[in-house]
Amino acid sequence: MSDPVFSVIVPVYNELENLPLLYSRVSDVMNQTGEKWELILVDDGSSDGSTDSIRELAQQDDRVRPVIFARNFGHQIAVTAGMDYSRGQAVVIIDADLQDPPEVILDLIAKWREGYQVVYAVRSEREGESWFKLTTASLFYKLIYKITDVKMPLNTGDFRLIDRKALTILNQMRERNRILRGMGAWVGFRQIGVEYKRAARHAGQTHYPLKNMLRLAMNAVTGFSIFPLQMLTTAGAFLVGLSLLLLLIYLCLAAFGKIDLTYVLAAWLTMIFLAGVLLIGMGVLGEYIGRIYDEAKGRPLYIVAEGPDTALDPTRLDRETEK
Ligand code: UDP
Ligand code: MG
Repeated sequence: MSDPVFSVIVPVYNELENLPLLYSRVSDVMNQTGEKWELILVDDGSSDGSTDSIRELAQQDDRVRPVIFARNFGHQIAVTAGMDYSRGQAVVIIDADLQDPPEVILDLIAKWREGYQVVYAVRSEREGESWFKLTTASLFYKLIYKITDVKMPLNTGDFRLIDRKALTILNQMRERNRILRGMGAWVGFRQIGVEYKRAARHAGQTHYPLKNMLRLAMNAVTGFSIFPLQMLTTAGAFLVGLSLLLLLIYLCLAAFGKIDLTYVLAAWLTMIFLAGVLLIGMGVLGEYIGRIYDEAKGRPLYIVAEGPDTALDPTRLDRETEK
């Protein structure tokens, strides 16, 4: 049996009410592609019967491949497992709650056929989400964009298509705190966004309350920059500067007989100065820890899109025609 052309990956955590509709809408859409496809349902430790529902779907349709976790590992890890098990030439990652309309997959595939390796879906509108969620989400994306070294596209989640070439690299990035949209931006290749309207959840509740959003934000910042560590040095330098400036002001005022230099003032200045020195020291340590962290992630140093081994290399084509 030949490998499928497309793998659709869905992380599932307590989505019993959404699974039947998800399956029927995804299979309708994928059948329209005219290619062989598989649907990888990753059960992330569900406790509401989703697991059995996934097993049933797999029994009825052998294009459905279940990956069932022993416990809940979290959304990003579930998607990672789906990517590891996928066999398609392109994979599509989509949520189980039908907030990402499966019909958009056809647009993603169209761009892939034009030669893009990463096609991410950009939310132009969002339905059925609270003002609070919208504002925090928008703040989240702006913050990440500012702070991190890798420019993750704004208003983009994990709904995307990834070509096998980029996927092979992503699958080699085994960092534990994963933030796939950042890693996806990091690998490069030809990327493009496709706009879509994010729908409301078909059923059930979000699994991303504020606490999880904050963790995701923290992971994004710490996973793609050592900015927080470098902040220490900046803050320290600021405090040292401030204490020296205040000292100067006090000395001037004392010289003109406006105030007496008291012990209290001296103690304040010393405290600010020392705090500054300590922070600089911590910042320097942080700089080294940041480097250790970068090494520990063990990401590839570079990614070759076209090189001597690929058919696209012009020198190789020349050599072949000479023969
Ligand atoms: N999900 C998961 N493991 C978790 C939490 C969520 O696999 O621990 C799945 C969930 O079933 C859904 C997707 O991740 O398919 C996105 O979750 P959710 O809809 O709750 O997030 P939101 O869309 O509200 O950001
Ligand atoms: Mg959702």
